[in-house]
This record gives sequence, structure tokens and C-alpha cells, in this order.
Amino acid sequence: MCSNKKLLRRPRPYIDESLIGYIARLADTNYYPSPNYILKISQLRVTGIYSNIFISKIDDLCILSQIAEVEDSILWAMAFSSTNSCSSAYIFTSVVKAFGENISTSLFNKTGPRFCPICWQTKAYYSQVWHLSRVTVCPFHKCFLIDTCYNCNNKIKFLRPRLFKCQCGFDLRDSQINIANIEEFALSFQIYKLCQVPEIESINYNSQIQDLEAAKSNKLNNLSDYNYDSFEGLIAKEPRVRNDTFFPLLGLEKLLNFRT
Ligand SMILES: [Zn+2]
Ligand SMILES: [Zn+2]
Repeated sequence: MCSNKKLLRRPRPYIDESLIGYIARLADTNYYPSPNYILKISQLRVTGIYSNIFISKIDDLCILSQIAEVEDSILWAMAFSSTNSCSSAYIFTSVVKAFGENISTSLFNKTGPRFCPICWQTKAYYSQVWHLSRVTVCPFHKCFLIDTCYNCNNKIKFLRPRLFKCQCGFDLRDSQINIANIEEFALSFQIYKLCQVPEIESINYNSQIQDLEAAKSNKLNNLSDYNYDSFEGLIAKEPRVRNDTFFPLLGLEKLLNFRT
């Protein structure tokens, strides 16, 4: 059953925006007390939202599509959807379709949302890649993503009234910025590339690495140990450290399982 009603404010989704993040943004922009409200009127479950997983046999995006005036197919492209063909309402989903691949649900962050406070100063939405546990850094701003409130030290939740504010009232865009280390930057950068995050190709990888080197000037000899090869990724010059620091041309699933 689809609704004829529409939300008062219906911003278009960004191309790399996650569906649950979009639902949170719709709630914020329409001044609803919680994204739960949008889930409720859209007749969607709360389960699984931390990892942006929606299941086509259970979750009908028809109402959301109507009230937000966004095509059903676009909403599904924003979700990580189950590839399970079983129609039971109690499917255990272990693999979902995301970024054009089948990805294990164990590789998604289930503890809550993460974000880049600097990205949020210009573009206020949740990127799909931020749901991946292995993405810890924003390659655009060379800083670690944030999942904890700087003020109250609690984990940030999706289901909170305002997009920018923690439940304690702290403006999350004012969070402290922590500069990334080189390995985490390199790994997140490679994953952003494989996930085709818009504008990632505009990043000059080598100059970003140099900036990070400068930021860690007291550990300069770490930095001269690396070369970046656009085909192979970050590689260590010394065979001695190569096994630990080699990000070769791995597929997305391998990168998402990478342990540093
Ligand atoms: Zn950023
Ligand atoms: Zn807080």
C-alpha cells in the first residue's frame, strides 16, 4: 500500500549517500523528533539499519519512495541489499550486494554511524563507504572518521533528533580532528577508489602522503620507506617491511578484510 502523502521537504539523495543516512537527513530537514518517525511511516524495520542493510523480500521502499519523491530503484541503490532469494521474514542475511559486489555483512560497521566532521561542514550526508568497518579515514581530509561524541564520549547513534547534533547537544561538526596515519589513509583511499566514491580520482595521492609525512615529521624514516604505485598501491621499498605494508591490487573484499 503506497501513500499519497509527501514530506514537506524532499531533498534529493547524493550519489554515494547511504539509505539509512538519507532517512536520518529527511528526519532532520523536516524537523521530526527522530529518523524512527520516517521508518515508522514508511513501514520499515529498525533492524539492520546500522549497516544500511535492507532486504527486498521484507523491506518495501514503496512508501518511502512516495513520501520523499525518489524513485524506488534509486533508494535500493543506496541500500546494501540482500542477495538471499528466500522469502521468509526471518532470513539470516550473511551476504549483501554493495558497491557492485557481494560482500559479507561481517565487514560492515554495526555499532553506529561514522562520519568525517570536515566533509559535514560542506556536504551533510552519510557516505555509503562509511558503513564499511575497514574504512577508518576520510581520504579527502586525511583525518580519522568519528563515531564517538567529543563532548559526552558516547557512541553516536543514527536515531537521534538532529543530524549534526549528538543527543547531549554537541555540534558534531566541531569534533576534534585526528590526523590519519599513512597505512590507514592508504587503505581507505584504495577502498574509496574501488567503491568509486565521487571525486576520489581528483585526489593527488602522493601529495596527500607527503602532507601526512610532514604531519608526522618526527617519524620521518617511516615515510621514506614507501613508494606509491598507481597500479599496485602503497608498497614498501624494503622486502623486510613489505609483507606488513603492501597494499597490492587486491579486490574489494580482500581489502575489506585487510588487517594492519
Ligand atoms: Zn572528509
Ligand atoms: Zn554527546
